[in-house]
This record gives sequence, structure tokens and C-alpha cells, in this order.
Amino acid sequence: MKIVIVGGVAGGASAAARARRLSEAAEIVVFERGQDPSFANCGMPYYIGGEIEVRDKLLVAPLSLLRERHRLDVRIRSQVEAIDRQNKTVTVRSLDDNRTYQESYDQLILATGAAPLKPPIPGIDSTGIYTLRDLQDADQLHAVATGGAKSAVIVGAGFIGIEMAENLVRRGLAVTIVELADQVLPPWDKEMVTPIESHLESSGVALRLGDSATAFTAKEGHVVVTLKSGDQLETDFVVLSVGVRPENQLAKVAGLDLGERGGVKVNRYMQTSDPHIYAVGDVVEVTDVVSSSATQIPLAGPANRQGRIAADHIFGRETYYRGTQGTAVVGVFDMAAAMTGLSEKVLQRLGMDYEKIYIHPAHHAGYYPGAQPMSLKLIFEPTTGRILGAQAVGRQGVDKRIDVIAMAIQADMNVLDLEESELCYAPQFGSAKDPVNMAGFVASGVVRGDHPVVHCDQILSAVQAGTVLIDVRSEKEFSEGHIAGAINQPIDSLRDNLDSLPNDKPIIVYCYVGMRGYLATRILLQNGFEVKNLSGGYKSWRMFADA
Ligand code: FAD
Repeated sequence: MKIVIVGGVAGGASAAARARRLSEAAEIVVFERGQDPSFANCGMPYYIGGEIEVRDKLLVAPLSLLRERHRLDVRIRSQVEAIDRQNKTVTVRSLDDNRTYQESYDQLILATGAAPLKPPIPGIDSTGIYTLRDLQDADQLHAVATGGAKSAVIVGAGFIGIEMAENLVRRGLAVTIVELADQVLPPWDKEMVTPIESHLESSGVALRLGDSATAFTAKEGHVVVTLKSGDQLETDFVVLSVGVRPENQLAKVAGLDLGERGGVKVNRYMQTSDPHIYAVGDVVEVTDVVSSSATQIPLAGPANRQGRIAADHIFGRETYYRGTQGTAVVGVFDMAAAMTGLSEKVLQRLGMDYEKIYIHPAHHAGYYPGAQPMSLKLIFEPTTGRILGAQAVGRQGVDKRIDVIAMAIQADMNVLDLEESELCYAPQFGSAKDPVNMAGFVASGVVRGDHPVVHCDQILSAVQAGTVLIDVRSEKEFSEGHIAGAINQPIDSLRDNLDSLPNDKPIIVYCYVGMRGYLATRILLQNGFEVKNLSGGYKSWRMFADA
């Protein structure tokens, strides 16, 4: 069996190593265009910023290890230029001497990844404009960031843009992020990233949201970035991070089926429309676990797992890929945002019915020193409670909660299962009612009808239509800030004042994070009032108002 793999980083290297573990006899050839196979793309921003001090740490499986330990025939600086499906050969160009030759295969695996998008903006090829994909890019950015540059403009506030902002600030640069969307981290819902935006700004990053770069002009060793708003930013250099596109040229020319967004179409075993050609990683179209629709989700975990599955299938194993659910986390200085499954905006775009709840618990027991607040949004089907997605932001513990919910999604669990999840607890690690349980309690209350909720974007119209808005916090909390139009009726005296409340009008109650509002809702419901609780309370309201 001769396996040829195109691309030797996440998906390709995983496929090669797995294939070797399954067969000592197989001939395995890996072609990698770059200088280094199996490097840590995800670590590159932190090398540029100095957190990772030694470049070699990014070489996860160096060439010598792949060749000696795994006996892989890894050929670097070797670009595959064409596939002859009829004769089962690829044409390879050796980039060192420009020689081309044919290599035969029994099974071919394409792991060519995704290339940074470069939109056709005037001046985009000017000096001083960088993208970040491979170690050569990282070397260049490391050199400029440590070579006396004072400022940088980052175009695009996705994962790479945000990570680069943090790392360039770490190097002492003045950083501005320009983002077309009206929020950072566009995969998240807007209200969830408002704490992240404030944190970026307080850490020294200037945000130009809802704006975009329309031209780049080189000027005396600087770059002038002209924005759609008309403003101009003069900077030492620009990092362009506006997304990636699947590197599908080989597959396209070979006539393999592609999806709408250019990803190579594969079956659950990672086979393309040609059964002797597999494709894995950022170059493939995947099925979204929650919506079952076709999508592109470029992440390292899926690429690594798909590589293993392709190798498994080649050697007759029964594993298959279950789809991608977009479980992701990004660090933003000492905060983090994590998500899994579908966001509210994607659910709206797909026309899927959903309900949501917000909670704002501490990441471990509040009485134990160091408890940090987090905000967690859980999205689910209103009647069945099937979990559709979750997002969390905070300083500690958000990754853990989203990972647990990610597993629940993969197991097709519903919010009632979250109530019953048995999770680790000691006060320095969590709470006896973990945030995951809490989210389950609140969402299950909604599904069961015990806890009718309302959301921030519904408040104003409800009040205008005559709904009575009651703030059940203390007089002191109320005096320090409340939603316009609210009356104050503290929870502790609510039962004594039921007679003063209107029983002919709907009522919305709220507190700071939703807990006292829930108690008030239960009291009022059992006394015959028509009442809903503002999910996540005043804290959600502040996130919504800032969004
Ligand atoms: P790649 O790892 O990109 O490898 C593809 C390789 O194929 C490339 O080295 C390329 O040179 C080679 N190649 C392409 N065409 C040819 C050809 N014709 N011939 C020979 N070789 C070819 N994901 C996360 O989940 N978490 C993170 O924190 C994270 N951080 C990231 C940070 C950065 C800066 C970057 C760039 C990406 C990050 N990612 C992260 C994304 C993650 O790295 C990718 O999803 C993953 O590497 C995809 O694996 P892949 O094998 O499909 O492609």
C-alpha cells in the first residue's frame, strides 16, 4: 500500500502518523510545500508576542522525528501541482531546484489547509502588509514586532486578529483593530462579546468596529490605511486577518466535487468523490453537528481527528467523522471567550426555532478566594430542550463549561440532562451547583413552563405596550442604576405588597443576575399574576445595552 499525503501539518501529519501505527508495511510519502512539517500554527501569535520564547518549541514533530521514528518519507519544499486520477499519480515540483516529477499512489490524502483571504483592496500587496499562516510569516512578523515598530493596524477581529492584538500589545506596540462587523469575534453573538471589547480597550487596543479598510498606501516606510468611514490610520505595519479560504486548487482541477464555499466534499470516512482520494482539515466541507447543514469550520481539532479517520478507513477500520460543532476558545489578555454549537444569529439565519437563557455565576464557590464572574448563554429547542449551542465569557473556567456542554451536544442531550450532570466539585474548582448545572436548572424551568422568561430586546416594546416592569433588587441597588421605566419592589417585601401590584397587566421582573427574579416569578405566578423573568437580569441588560 502506498499512501501519498499532500500537506504535512495538522491533518496531513496526523494521517501519516496514524497510517504508520496501523501499518508497518505501508509506504507513506508526505509532500509539504513549506520548510517545516507539523508545526504549531496555533502557537505562532504567542511566539511573535514573546510568550513562547524559543521558535523551535513550535516544531511539534520535527522532520527528523517524522523520518526516523515514524519512517515517513517526508519531502519538504515539495509542492504538488496536479493529480492524474486516471493513472493515480501526482506531479510534484521540488521548490529548491524547480525540478518536477511524478509520484504514484494507491491512496491519496489531501491536507492542503486554508489560505488567508486577501480581498482585492487597492494597495493590498504593498510592503508592510502581512498575513499569518506559516512559520515564515511568523518569522517576518516576529522581526517587525521586535525591530522597532511602534504601531500596528490589524484588519479583522476574528481569532487570529484578536490573538495578534494581544501579542503586539505585549511587545509594547500601539494596536488598532479594524473590523467590518459591529463586534469583535463575529462567530459569537454580539452581546456576549461586549465584556471582551471593553477588556481589549482597557488593555490598550483601539477598536474601529463597523468600519473597513478600503485602501493601503505605502508612505515613507509606513502604511496608510484608508477606512470606509473616510478616516486614515498611519501605521508601521498591517496584519490582515479577514478569514481563510480552502486551498482547493488541486481538488478543483482534478474534478473532485466541491461545496458552495469551495470546501472539498467528503463522506463520513473523509473520502472525496474519488474513492481513492481522501481530504481532511481546513480544505474540506463539513457537516454541522447541530443543523446538519454543510459548512466550513477551520479548526485544528477537527483537522487532526479527520486525518486519523482517513488513515483508519484506508486500513479498513470502521471509524467515521461525526461532523463539526465549532467548539472554540480564544484568550484575550486575561479573559477568554468560548463557544460550541450554533449561535443565535446562525439559528436566525437558518430559520430554526430556539429559546435561550443567560446566567452569570462565579467560576468556583463564591466564598472561596478568587472567584471570578462569568457569563454563560445556553441556546436550546423550546419544546424538547435539545441543546443547540452555548457561549461563555469570563476570566476563569469558561473553557471547562463549554467543553462539558460540547460533549452534551455531541451526545444529543437536552437541558434536563445538564441539570443532572455530575461534575467535579471542591470550592477552589467549582460549585456544588456548577454553572453547567445552573444553566440546566434555568433552561429546564423554561422548558417545563415553571419559569417564563423574557429577553432584553423585548423589554422596551413590552413596556410601551403596557407591561409593568418591576426591579426586585434592594432600594440601594435600584438607586445605583436600573432599567428606565422600572418600579422598585424588593423581593423580601414582595409577598407583603401583592395587593399593590396590578393583576390585570402582564409583569416583567428582574434582579441583578436572574435568581431573585426567578423567585419573584414563582411567587407571582402562584398568586395568579401573569409574569416573566428577564433572563440574566440587569447584568444581561448591561451587556445588551453596551452591544
Ligand atoms: P494546515 O495546518 O494549514 O496545513 C496545510 C499544509 O499544506 C500547509 O503547511 C501547506 O504548506 C501545505 N500545502 C498546501 N498546498 C500544498 C501543495 N499543493 N503541495 C504541498 N503542500 C501543500 N485552530 C484551533 O482550533 N485553535 C487555535 O488556537 C488556532 N489558532 C490558529 C492560529 C493561527 C495563527 C493560524 C494560522 C491557525 C490557527 N488555527 C487554530 C487553525 C488551525 O491551525 C487549522 O485549522 C489547522 O492547522 C488546519 O489543518 P490542515 O492540516 O487542514 O492545514
